[in-house]
Amino acid sequence: MSAGAKGGDGPPRKGEIFTTGVFVRPSRILLVSAAAAEIARVERLLGLDNNSVDAVATPGAALASLKEQKPDLVLLGAALGNRIGFDFCRTLKQTPSLHYIPVVIILDGSAVGGQIDALDCGANDVVREPLDELVFRARIRALLKYKRAVAALRNARNTLEQDVHERIAQLQKEIAEHQRTEAALQESQERYALAAQGSHDGLWDWDLRTDKVFCSERWKSMLGYPEDAPLDSPEAWFAHISPLDLGPFKEALSAHLEGRTLAFSFECRMQHRDRTLRWVHVRGMAVRDKDGAALRIAGSQSDITSRKLMELQLRHDAFHDGLTGLPNRALFMDRLRQAIARMKRDPARAYAVLLLDIDKFKIVNDSLGHGVGDHLLIQFARRVREFGRATDTVARLGGDEFAVLLEDVEDLASATAAAERIHEALKTPLVVHGRQMYATTSIGVATGKPRYERADDVLRDADTALYQAKAAGRGKQRTFASGMHARVLSQMDLEHDLRDAIKTCEQFVLCYQPILALDSGRLVGFEALIRWHHPKRGLVSPLQFIPIAEETDVIGPLTQWVLRTATAQLKAWEAAAGRDLPVYVSVNLSGKTLGDAGLAGTVGEIVRASGVRPAQVSLEITEGSLMKDPEASLATLSCLKAMDIGLMVDDFGTGYSSLSYLHRLPLNILKIDRSFVADIPAVARNMEIVRTIALLADRLGLSLVAEGIETAAQRDWLRSIRCGLGQGHLFSRAVVAAAAYAFMADNLSLQ
Ligand code: C2E
Ligand code: MG
Ligand code: MG
Repeated sequence: MSAGAKGGDGPPRKGEIFTTGVFVRPSRILLVSAAAAEIARVERLLGLDNNSVDAVATPGAALASLKEQKPDLVLLGAALGNRIGFDFCRTLKQTPSLHYIPVVIILDGSAVGGQIDALDCGANDVVREPLDELVFRARIRALLKYKRAVAALRNARNTLEQDVHERIAQLQKEIAEHQRTEAALQESQERYALAAQGSHDGLWDWDLRTDKVFCSERWKSMLGYPEDAPLDSPEAWFAHISPLDLGPFKEALSAHLEGRTLAFSFECRMQHRDRTLRWVHVRGMAVRDKDGAALRIAGSQSDITSRKLMELQLRHDAFHDGLTGLPNRALFMDRLRQAIARMKRDPARAYAVLLLDIDKFKIVNDSLGHGVGDHLLIQFARRVREFGRATDTVARLGGDEFAVLLEDVEDLASATAAAERIHEALKTPLVVHGRQMYATTSIGVATGKPRYERADDVLRDADTALYQAKAAGRGKQRTFASGMHARVLSQMDLEHDLRDAIKTCEQFVLCYQPILALDSGRLVGFEALIRWHHPKRGLVSPLQFIPIAEETDVIGPLTQWVLRTATAQLKAWEAAAGRDLPVYVSVNLSGKTLGDAGLAGTVGEIVRASGVRPAQVSLEITEGSLMKDPEASLATLSCLKAMDIGLMVDDFGTGYSSLSYLHRLPLNILKIDRSFVADIPAVARNMEIVRTIALLADRLGLSLVAEGIETAAQRDWLRSIRCGLGQGHLFSRAVVAAAAYAFMADNLSLQ
């Protein structure tokens, strides 16, 4: 850079002058002369142009001075316009660090020639004495300007050289770096290729500049192609990717090529040459230029078909029931959620849920074993699935609970019609282990309403409806209606309270209804009837809570409590009377407990513990429960009979007794159901039935009790057909123990 330009960068520094628009440093001139006059004159002349002049006397002194500092020009005085001066000039011009300094030689005016010699020895200019002062100054100025230009040039060259050196150094560094990277890449590619070979992966390489694709032998064989198969374009490659996956595949590829992902990794289906689909995992990484633009992308491809199939199987298993192969609860709930969402978007797309529970499945399982139970579930599932449309989801939610999701149902009627069809389909027996079995199911229906937000809520309502359907008996269906939930909740509360109450039995009370001989009016016994004093609901009828007790398995302990209390009461009455009493207590036995293996033993123990004679105890079993499994009843009843405990068939006439069993069962008494008695004397047909029952009892050698006698006419007619015993409001309602004792004391004339 020139001194001028340098000077132009800022304000003038000390000593600088302003010339031709730029600040220039004063030039320093080394004058080699010993002549004082000459020195003075040169100083004056060149001082006019603001130059400074240093004078040294001899060339030797000049050389010494030149080592110290570099002048802008060397001027040899007239005394040196000879060989000495020329030699000095030549030395100076041959010295690399000095040769650029302009040298001017002043020639003595008297000397002849010398000009050529002076220029030959390298002098830049020659002036002769006597000096033309103006010309002399002009020449010196021109040389100084030349010197400055040369210096600027030298500076520029130096800077350039330095820049070039720096750039070269940098390039060398970059090349070395690049070489190292190349080597590392080469090495890793080799390693990768080896690994790929070892792991049976296929390799691919897509040169984006030429749009050529290279696929390795293994890559091709993975899809059933020979090594020379022409698979060398992206189109040929993509044509093998399943149309289901191609879109997302290309999207993921673009994302990586555009630098949005660090690596490309995608699992997709590809078509094998044999037209089957294979699952592959494609991985790749782009090679980019320095601006990040992708030049190539290369990677591997592994066959993951077996892993994928296993995953699909696992996923299938996670969402399907292992026994029936039906969707399980998780999948069902998912589909239901989708149906809810669909209906939210479009209220016309209604849906319905049918919740199914196989009636009495537990009995099948318990009595015939789990193998039969499982087979029944499979056949049941098949039958229910057959009835439905392809769009319906039939699922097993667990145990013997199934659900059907009906999509796009038109109205409630079509949902209930679907439930009807299921009942209908089950009328044909199922074949379980080669044996025909009839299965019925209770069905709760909930139809989708736009207000449903959660699948759980729909299922809860279907469950509520199912609960009601089951309460109505086998093979029934109920559709969820508002208010039903509250009823079921109340029922459930009752269930809960009953479980609590059974812990202490303090809320239960026994009432006693007298049973009398119809001809003499003499008391023969009492029927013990339970009452529940619910702390909040008041008196709860046994008709309401006994079925709950039976459902929830608290009936066993409850029956034991009744038996214990009734026998203890009888013992207490005898103590109060001071003698044995010729009466019995009759306790109702639920059909549910009849199958209990330990029943006879438990009853015997309670009776023994109470101290009453077994003959003073009678058990009432309804005709329906007795005839459900007469063989099992026979075993239990025989044990009880052997203990001398009386056995009564309750509500006789309402069930379907088999005469042969009636004959074989060790019974004492038949108790005519209240409904027949109530119709006396209005309904002649019922009176005929009662007459027949009376004859039957007589033939079987059984006593006959008529319950629900409310009028003297009923009593009289019953007496006329030789019905020996009776109970009913005509004589007494069921009353608490004290009142019962009072009735007895009066009837038996106790003291
Ligand atoms: P049930 O064994 O047939 O008892 C006779 C029912 O008829 C009793 O009703 C009794 O109060 C009622 N009754 C008797 N005479 C008349 C009458 O003249 N007119 C009318 N309208 N009713 C009469 P309750 O006490 O409400 O018992 C109902 C049922 O609850 C019983 O029918 C029995 O099946 C069951 N139950 C009661 N206590 C027990 C018990 O301790 N264990 C079991 N398992 N069931 C019981
Ligand atoms: Mg009874
Ligand atoms: Mg009865």
